[in-house]
Amino acid sequence: MGRLTEQEIELCKSLKRIISNVARRHDWPPEVIAGIISRESKFGILLDSNGKGDRGHGHGLMQIDDRSHAAFISKGTWRNAADNIEYGTAVLSDFHNYLESHTSLKGADLEAAAIASFNAGPGGVIKALPNWDAATTGKDYSSDVLVRAAALAPVFAGVDTMDTFKVVGHLLYKNGKQVPFRLSPDHGGFITPTLIVIHYTDTSELKSPLSWLTKKDDTEVSAHLIIDKNGEVYQLLPFNVRAYHAGVSEYDGRGSVNGFSIGIENVGTGDVWPDAQVEANRDVISALYDAYEIEDTVGHSSVSPGRKVDPGPNYPWDRVMTIPTETQPDPTKSAMVAGVGVIIAILRKWLGA
Ligand SMILES: [Zn+2]
Repeated sequence: MGRLTEQEIELCKSLKRIISNVARRHDWPPEVIAGIISRESKFGILLDSNGKGDRGHGHGLMQIDDRSHAAFISKGTWRNAADNIEYGTAVLSDFHNYLESHTSLKGADLEAAAIASFNAGPGGVIKALPNWDAATTGKDYSSDVLVRAAALAPVFAGVDTMDTFKVVGHLLYKNGKQVPFRLSPDHGGFITPTLIVIHYTDTSELKSPLSWLTKKDDTEVSAHLIIDKNGEVYQLLPFNVRAYHAGVSEYDGRGSVNGFSIGIENVGTGDVWPDAQVEANRDVISALYDAYEIEDTVGHSSVSPGRKVDPGPNYPWDRVMTIPTETQPDPTKSAMVAGVGVIIAILRKWLGA
C-alpha cells in the first residue's frame, strides 16, 4: 500500500483542475481518478524521461497500455495530461458500463470492480468475482486506489469545477477574468441583442478563423465570440456592437438579424462537438441570458435557410440549452457527495467494518 508523499499531493494539486473537469464529464469523483493516477504513476514520479513506465508499455499519467490502446497511443497526444486523463477515464467508464450490463454488481461494488478492471481488464475481473481484486497486480488494486482516493479527497474538497462566465459592460469574463479580446475591425453601430446565433467556422483549428475574423480585408466578416474545441473563448466585439456574422437572414419576420443578435462562432466542421466546447457554449449562453433580454438561440441555418447549414444536425442543442439556474442542484456538488459516499461504502466493505 503506497503512502502518499507531500510531493505527490503537490503534483495532484497542480492537476486539480484537469482532473476535476474530466471527472465531472465522466461522472466519477475526482479523487478516484486521482487515486488511479497515484497508483499508476505517482502523478508522473514513476515515469521515465520519455513519460513511460511498465517496461515501456504504460504511457503517461494513467499508464495507458500500447498493447490494448494502440490507436490512442499512435495519435501521439498521450503525453498531454488532459488527453491522457480524459482517455483513461473514458476507458474506466467503458469498463463500468460493461460490468453493469454483464454482471449483477451495483453501486459501490460496481465502482470498485470497474477500478479493478483498469488494471486487470473486465474479463479478468469477471472471472475473479466475487473477489475482483484477486485478478489485479498485487491483488489489491481497487482497494489501494480507494485508500489513495480517500487521502486525496481534501485536494478536491469544495472545488467548483463549473466555469463561471459573466457579462460586465458588454464584455465577457470567465472566473473573474476577462476572456482574451481581439477587436474585429468589421462591425457596425450599437445594437440591443435579443437573439443568439450559433455558427461553426468550417475549419478544424482556431488560427485561421481568428485571423480572418479580426483582419481588415475585403470580406467583412466578424462575430462576437469564437469558441475553440478546447473550450477557450475569445471575444472579438462587445455584445452591444453589430457584428457581421449572419449575412442575409431573417428571424420571426425581421430581416438582417445582425442588427439584433449575438454571433457565436465555434471552431470545427460540425461533425464532432467536444465536451469542453459544448460546456463553454452552454455556460456562455447562460451568461448572455442573464445579461440580456434574449428571446431565442438559433442556428445560422435557421435564419439563413437554404444558404447556410451551420451549426448542423450534430450540434448538441439538448446539452447546450440546459441553462443551469440557481434552483437546480449543482451536479458537481452532488457528484462529489455521492463520490465520498461511495468511497466510504467501499472502504467499509473492504475493511470489513
Ligand atoms: Zn454561420
